[in-house]
Amino acid sequence: MTIQIAKILFFCFLSFARLYAQPVPRCATKQNDPELLEKYRVISEKIKEYQVLNSNRNSRVNDEILKIPVVVHIIHNNSNGRIGGDGNPNITDEQIFSQIKVINEDYRRKVNTLGFNIDPVGADMEIEFFLAQTDPSGEPSTGITRSYFNKNQYDVFNDLELISSISYWDSNRYLNIWVLDLASSYLGYSEFPTADFDGLELEDSNEFTDGIFIDYEAFGKKTGVAFNSPYDYGRTVTHEIGHWLGLIHTWGDAFCGDDYCNDTPPTERENLTNFCKPIFSRCNGTRTRNMIENYMDYSPDSCMNIFTQDQKGRVRAILDLSKRRRRLINYSKFLLPYASKLDVKILNNPNTPQNLKIQVLLPDFKDFSIKIYDLLGREIIYQEYKDYPGTIISIADMSIPPGLYILRVNENENYVTQRMMVL
Ligand SMILES: [Zn+2]
Repeated sequence: MTIQIAKILFFCFLSFARLYAQPVPRCATKQNDPELLEKYRVISEKIKEYQVLNSNRNSRVNDEILKIPVVVHIIHNNSNGRIGGDGNPNITDEQIFSQIKVINEDYRRKVNTLGFNIDPVGADMEIEFFLAQTDPSGEPSTGITRSYFNKNQYDVFNDLELISSISYWDSNRYLNIWVLDLASSYLGYSEFPTADFDGLELEDSNEFTDGIFIDYEAFGKKTGVAFNSPYDYGRTVTHEIGHWLGLIHTWGDAFCGDDYCNDTPPTERENLTNFCKPIFSRCNGTRTRNMIENYMDYSPDSCMNIFTQDQKGRVRAILDLSKRRRRLINYSKFLLPYASKLDVKILNNPNTPQNLKIQVLLPDFKDFSIKIYDLLGREIIYQEYKDYPGTIISIADMSIPPGLYILRVNENENYVTQRMMVL
C-alpha cells in the first residue's frame, strides 16, 4: 500500500502582535482537519516502528550532539544596501547572532539562560546550530547572505519559490532560514520533514523551499528591530525549527488532540494568552495542567523553556528517517571547521583591503578582540567583539593603508598572531 504524504505547512501570524501586542496564533495549521490528523498518525506510526527497531541499539543519531549548519538569507529592498534601522529588513549581524544564540540555549537546555528548566521530563535536545563557515562551493563564509530584491513584502502562500530563487543553499546540506518582510498576518513558515520519509511515497516535496521563512521583526532577541512583545525572545524560530524537525503542536491541532508524545500532558487547545499563567485541560475526564512552557505551544516567548524527552526521541528518529535531514546531519560532519578553540585564517593574503578578510573560528559565542600593528609595533586598529560566534571580519571596514602588518586576535587567554599584507 502506498501512502501519499503531502507536505505539511505551518504558517504563523504576526500583524496583530505588531499593532496591538495581542496574543495571536503563531501558526495557521488547520484545526480538526481529518486529512492532516491522518498524516500525523501515519508518520507517527513510522516513528514508533523505528523506535522499536532501534530500542536495543544506539541509532546513528541517538548518542551524539548533532550540529546543524545554518545559512541566514537576508532579503531586503534597500538598493543602497543600508544595514539596520527601523523598518529595514536588512537587519544587522548582531540581530542574527542573537537569534542563533537563542536556538542554541533552547535546544541545549543551557544552564543560566531562559532555555533552562528543571522539569523532570525536560530534555537537552543535544542539537546545536552554527552559521555555516563554508558556502556550497567550499569558500569560507559568514553563513549570512544579503540580497537586494525590488519587492516590499512577500506572501507565504505564493512567493516561496520566488524567495528561494533570490537566494538558496542546498537543503540537503544546510538549514536555510530566509529573513524578510512577510505580508499580512504571518510570523513565519516551515515545512515538516516528512515529505521524504523512508517508506512513505513522496508528494509535493520541494527541496528548494525546505527551510524556514520568517519575518525580520520576529527574528532575534531584543536586538535590532526584534522588539515586538510578546514575540521578542526569538522563540518563533525555536518553534518553527521544532516543526522542521517534525514536532507537532502540543494540542495535536485538534481538541485534546495527539502530539504523539506521552510526556506532554493532554491539551484542549493552544495557549493564546499574553501571560505566563497556568491553564488546565479536561481530556479523557481528567483535569491536567497544560505544559504552557513547551516550545510547541503558542505561549508568549518569555514563558517557553521546554522540549520533553519524548519530543527529543521523536526528533532523533526523524533525523534518521527523513532522507534530507539525514543527509544534512551526515554532511555537516564534513562541513565543520567548527573549531574546538580559537583559530584565525586570513583570507586572500595578500590582497587589497576590499578582498582581505579575517576568518575567526570559535567553539561558541565568545568575546574577542582584533589588533593590527604596523612593523614598528604601533597599534593601528583595535576592535572588540562582544559575544560573537565564529565569523568573518572584513578589513575593508577598517580603512587600513597598504603595507605589511601583524594581526593579533585575542579570546580570553588564547591568542593567534599572523602576518598580513595589504596591497
Ligand atoms: Zn506551529
